[in-house]
Amino acid sequence: MTVAKLDFELEKVKRVIKERGVSVAGIQLPDGLKRFGTEIASEISSFGVETVISGRSCYGACDVDVQLLELVDVLFHFGHSEFLVSSELADETTGERQESATRLLRKAAERCERLRSVIQERCIFLECRALVDVKPVVAKAAPLLRSNAVGLVATVQHAHSLEEARTTLKNFGKYVVAGKGENGCVSRPLGKMRAKCEGQILGCDFSAAASGCEEILLLGSGKFHAEGLSLYLGKKVVVADPLSGSVEEVTPKRLMAKRMAVTERASDARRFGVLLGMKPGQFDLKAALEILRLARRKGFKAYLISMDEVTREKLLAFDVDAFVSTACPRLAEDFYDFKKPVMTPLEFGVVVGERKWDEVFRF
Ligand code: SF4
Repeated sequence: MTVAKLDFELEKVKRVIKERGVSVAGIQLPDGLKRFGTEIASEISSFGVETVISGRSCYGACDVDVQLLELVDVLFHFGHSEFLVSSELADETTGERQESATRLLRKAAERCERLRSVIQERCIFLECRALVDVKPVVAKAAPLLRSNAVGLVATVQHAHSLEEARTTLKNFGKYVVAGKGENGCVSRPLGKMRAKCEGQILGCDFSAAASGCEEILLLGSGKFHAEGLSLYLGKKVVVADPLSGSVEEVTPKRLMAKRMAVTERASDARRFGVLLGMKPGQFDLKAALEILRLARRKGFKAYLISMDEVTREKLLAFDVDAFVSTACPRLAEDFYDFKKPVMTPLEFGVVVGERKWDEVFRF
């Protein structure tokens, strides 16, 4: 099935169902693709399988619906690629578990282990690659790129078209500087949130982007990835959307000013809520406990608050002056205009005098 120029890979779904003898399948889609859920369910049901569509929000591969996963034989998670789990990090987790004296950390490590194995075993990620010609939009974006050396990255839907984009840029006299593919990603007990494909970025993994150039061309949609990338690298990003044909420029100055304003507002805070994200790929108790200890060492009050979906309504219920989020590292940006400051752990470090600003835009 190919809808809206996206490949939902239903032949692969059919193969998995047959090979695994699936009788009940879960379907999970990001909010932007949920409208295709019923059509996909009809197609999958025609293979003789009962289906359940996840109604929960879904922002990334970090956000697998594990409650639904427990009920079904297999969960088809559309729109994201799996994130890579490094064995090095798994060893770290084991070490943490052995050394930790606290019951909380032991339990957390057990939870991560359980989630990691059930996701690897029963969740199938389908990337929903865009089936469009990227040449026209790259040609439209090229005049906005002033330097000859540019970085080139894509979200997962367009990662397979990077070579075509590179050739098009070459025709405009530009050459592509490749990223090193290291650092620039978030490490969590469940595994490193690493993008799977070459040249692919995630909202929390920009390691595919080159730092040795002035500008970056991103194949993707919306501003979420472009703004994160621009903040992270401190560079101009031109985002070209092969699906809509739109081209837009994002620069870091205004974004950085927004983040500085948030920490400025937090400078009088005395009581901090430390958010512990309970979504499988966002859970980071170790980081949350570090924030808690740091806050208390500095003479502040700090409270650990667990939360699955973080919303404004939920945050308003808590009697604290500011929040520090250890969940999705991009969450604080969504809350920049919230009545109480919501910060990343690094921004909190600046507020309590442990870090300098130039360290903040590195995850
Ligand atoms: S940026 Fe946030 S929502 Fe996106 S993959 Fe990373 S943790 Fe998940």
